[in-house]
Amino acid sequence: DVRPLVAGNWKMNGTRESLTEIKAMAEGVQGALSEKVDALICPPATLLYVATALSTDSPLMIGGQDCHQDASGAHTGDISAEMIADCFGTYVIVGHSERRTDHAETDHLVRAKAQAAHAADLTAIICVGETAGERDAYQTLEVLKRQIFNSVPETATAANTVIAYEPVWAIGTGVTPTADDVEIAHAFMRAELTACLGEEGRRMRILYGGSVKPGNARELMSVENVDGALIGGASLKANDFLAIYRVY
Ligand code: 13P
Repeated sequence: DVRPLVAGNWKMNGTRESLTEIKAMAEGVQGALSEKVDALICPPATLLYVATALSTDSPLMIGGQDCHQDASGAHTGDISAEMIADCFGTYVIVGHSERRTDHAETDHLVRAKAQAAHAADLTAIICVGETAGERDAYQTLEVLKRQIFNSVPETATAANTVIAYEPVWAIGTGVTPTADDVEIAHAFMRAELTACLGEEGRRMRILYGGSVKPGNARELMSVENVDGALIGGASLKANDFLAIYRVY
């Protein structure tokens, strides 16, 4: 069966002081549960190297929040997938809605970033999700189809790629879709991924993200085709993150 992944995205939060949370998470994910559930934290790039050093003896994995599509070059302020791998990161988030909005990232750019991640042997977490306006216009499934078709490389496998469904209107708002809506969206994405990638798509993890908290995680994580969570705000504190991890 599919091995769930509980992932935290710290976004533009966290200084050296926050490393105590990483330490607590690294300790908290040890034990029997780590045999069946993966845990990942994506801190800001400034903390990446120290975060991996703090979790060397732990199953906690560390990843980046974005990478450039090129391997190296004149791109001031950007970091490459190889740099994340060089810091012993093993995952990278690409195409988060905040990147798509703040930096005008397109579906095709996101695909190039996922390919760059794969070239550096990183697992890419490709984010998709509709805006409030698209949802109100009943375009959710159409948007997901377009984003999956254009952002997921043909070479994606269940091992090197994770999909994260994050409805934009559910991010940081405390509002989530109903379990029924999540089930419909995830079943649709599963069918699309299987149509595009066959067996790899059938086994690819599809995370839900958007206002996941200790209080709603159990319900959301038990929905069919939900293979874990991508957590923003509630991943900043070890207690919240571990409470969500422990719903499995
Ligand atoms: P919140 O959990 O803060 O809503 O953020 C979700 C998210 O965007 C994770 O990538």
